[in-house]
Formats: sequence, C-alpha cells, structure tokens
Amino acid sequence: MTLMTKDEYLSSLKDLGHRVFIQGEQVASVPDNRISGPGAMAMAETYEQAQKAPELFTAESHLTGETINRFAHIQHSTEDIIKKVVMLREMGRRTACCFQRCAGMDAINSVYAITYDIDQEYDTQYHARFRDFLKYIQQNDFVPAACMTDSKGDRSLSPSRQKDMDQYLHVVEETKGGLVVRGAKLHTTGGVNSHELLVMPTRALGADDRDFAIAFAVPASAKGVTFVYGRQPSDTRRLEKGRPDVGNPCFGGCESLIVFDDVFVPEERIFMKGEYPFAGRLVELFAANHRTSYGGCKVGVGDVLIGATQAIGQAQGTEKAAHFKDKVAEMIHLNETLHGVALASAAMGKQTPSGSFAVDQLLANVCKLNITRFPFEISRLAQDLAGGILVTMPSLEDQKHPEIGGYIRKYMAGREGVTSDQRMRVLRLIENIVLGTGAVSYLTESIHGAGSPQAQKIMITRLADMASARSCALRLCGVEGLD
Ligand code: SF4
Ligand code: FE
Repeated sequence: MTLMTKDEYLSSLKDLGHRVFIQGEQVASVPDNRISGPGAMAMAETYEQAQKAPELFTAESHLTGETINRFAHIQHSTEDIIKKVVMLREMGRRTACCFQRCAGMDAINSVYAITYDIDQEYDTQYHARFRDFLKYIQQNDFVPAACMTDSKGDRSLSPSRQKDMDQYLHVVEETKGGLVVRGAKLHTTGGVNSHELLVMPTRALGADDRDFAIAFAVPASAKGVTFVYGRQPSDTRRLEKGRPDVGNPCFGGCESLIVFDDVFVPEERIFMKGEYPFAGRLVELFAANHRTSYGGCKVGVGDVLIGATQAIGQAQGTEKAAHFKDKVAEMIHLNETLHGVALASAAMGKQTPSGSFAVDQLLANVCKLNITRFPFEISRLAQDLAGGILVTMPSLEDQKHPEIGGYIRKYMAGREGVTSDQRMRVLRLIENIVLGTGAVSYLTESIHGAGSPQAQKIMITRLADMASARSCALRLCGVEGLD
C-alpha cells in the first residue's frame, strides 16, 4: 500500500495508541475529539487530494519507483519544489488553516541531504538508515512530524550550561542497541496527527553540546512519549451545541508540546549522534525548505481571506466603492508577492550532494521575512473592509431564538436578498482567520514558524553577496582602495 484513503488515514490515527492530553484530559481518539477533530481533518485532506488530484498531490518515489503522496517525496528537481509550493497553496485554499503535513515533508528532505553529508565527513552509515526509514514512511503513507524546537530554558545559556539539562532534548544513556533520550519539543505542528516523530536539534551546537546533537525517529506511540495539545483562541467554540460561531467548521491547525521522558531510540533509527558541526546545517536547511513552504500555504489562506472580504463587500453593498477595490487590489498584490518569492526560491533551487534538491536559501529567507509582515497587512485590510460588525455581532445561534431571532434576522441582514445567516457566516470565517483558531497559523505562526524574523535577517545578511554589490558600486563611481 502506498496511498491511504482519507478514511484509512483517520482509522490509522484512531488505532495509533499515542498518549494525548487536551485541556487536562486524556483523549481516546484524536479525530473524534471535538477540539482536535478539525486538525485531523485538515491533515486527512492531504490524503483525500492524493486520490482526487494525483497529478499534483502524488509523485514517483526515487527509492521504490512507486506512486507516493507528494508530502512523502524527496525533491529531485526544481520542478518538484515548484509543485510543492503550488500544492501547498491549493491546500491552504481548501482548508484555510495549517494542514500540518509539510513540516514533516521539509524535515525528511533536510535529514535526507544532511545524513549524506555527515557520512561523507565521518564515514558513518546514517544516510542508508534514513533511506530505510523513508521507505517505511512512503510504503505505509505515514506522516512523520518534524520535532525541532526545544523548551530552551535560559536562552542566554548554551544547552550544556543549562541548570536543567532537559531544557534541550539530549542523550541520557547509551544502551545496548540504541539510546535513551529525554527532553521536550514544542510547537510541534501536527504532532498528534502523525504516525512517527522525526526529531532534530534546534540550533547550531559546539563541542560541549555533543550530547544534544542528535537526530532520530520514534513512533508517536513510543513508551515515554506524551503529547499536550496547544490551546488556540476561541477553540472552545467547537464545544458549543451546533458549533454556530466556529467560522471554519471543518478544518483547523494544531500544535503540541511533546515530552520525551526517557524514550528508547533503536540504533537503526538514529540519524545523527554527536556530529555537532552538522546540527546548525540541518537546522538551516530545514528552515530554508520550510520558509519557502510558507509562500504556498499562507498564500492559499490569503486567497480565502481575500475571497471572503470580496464576498462580504458584495453582501454589504460596498464592493463597488473605489476604496474597497483599491484595498482588495492591495491585498492581492501582497499575497501574490509572497507566492512569487516562494516560486523564485523553488525555481532557483540547487542539487545537494545527496542528489536531492533544496530551495535557494537567500530567496527562501526573503520569502519568510515577507510572510512575517504581509499577512498582517492583508488581515488589517480585511478587518477594515468587513467593518466593526466583525467583532460586535451576536451569535449565529441567536437567529433561532423565538423572541430575539426576528431582530437578528432583520438587523444582521445585508443588502436586499442577503440573509443574516449568509452575512454572518462569511464574517465568522474572516474572524476565524484574523482573530480565532485560524489566526494561530495565519498570523502568529507567520512570525515565528520556521524561525522568527531576526533569524531570517541573520541569514539574509549572511547569504547576500555584499562583496560583489560593493564592487559594482565602487567600479561605477570610480573609487579604488576603499576597504
Ligand atoms: Fe504546512 Fe504551512 Fe502548516 Fe508549515 S505552516 S506545516 S507549511 S501548512
Ligand atoms: Fe509551521
């Protein structure tokens, strides 16, 4: 089996047996829980689309030659990376949230390339092991979650200088046939919806931090692994009867804190152990791959927000006003600029020594730095055009009340022919993306996901060819000897 259906995926998740807590209670089935269900459905959509649109959502495995989900594919051309970006935009349009599977996709592409590099330097066997793991993922159509960010404790201290060593996930013991690790990984996108956990270091490391330079994979159900689900604004609207005000009733993103409490990692699942000079390189490559991905997924969500804004303008009779058209044009301009840079970083991608392809890192960082800003401006314009009613309107449920329902239906209606229900549903979708559960992904994650803005500034400064820019300038103005 290389492609699971959506239903097969959801049953595989129910059968996973991983230990998940949401708001103080252990959850029996992630897809069936009302808080976590929409997150599972967003991930499930990646399976659904592989069945419905295989030309974009599937690829040929370079390991087995079989058809696999593109989310499990190792990119082998710039066309592969372009297709990834286009696929993520399509998924954003379909779900208007973080559909989670790309973090693992970008992680497998990064670990694939770096394990090859480590082997060249140290004569280790990590790449062959990783290929075996990848084959297992591809052949079962599993999701590996990318687990990178540690809890970090005192940020002014390196991992080995922390008072509590567990603030960075580390090796506690080497045993026969493997390792025992302890620590936690935060912000893990789609962790509870994943079959496997692919763990990587979170930062560049020095010789003193050798015990923290580890990469490995364990099943989500491994002994000692616990997931604690992240809260989102307005998430308990999903618990309301009929869920009238959820805004995006079918889909949602999710992150979790994953605790590794003395988890055993078998030798064949270890992909880095102590090769600290490669920790930073792995982080940078993963970050670059994922920074380009944001120019797909967030743009798709932007499409939904722009579409909803246009629809609310039509419902309220404002869409023909000159300022409305101008602001929508601005929203489109910003959104397409995000996509353009992502496509450019894909098109300018290069082959890695392992044979796989990676994005252009400078353009990937430019893409992500724009992502830290433009969705906020697009959201500001959406709120401007939607009007204050976005945050003051009653509940959709009030429309049904025997005494006040008539008032709501009358005063919340739009222009002639537009019901209160239609208008309020569109407003709730906008609210979801800019203020509710969707804003976790569209706004705050746009700042911090795949690294915070300053990380992109550092990379841009490092990668830009300033020497040649300077010499162009100095040659043109005839200046010599200015060092
Ligand atoms: Fe995918 Fe975007 Fe979510 Fe990252 S933020 S996992 S790229 S949908
Ligand atoms: Fe992310």
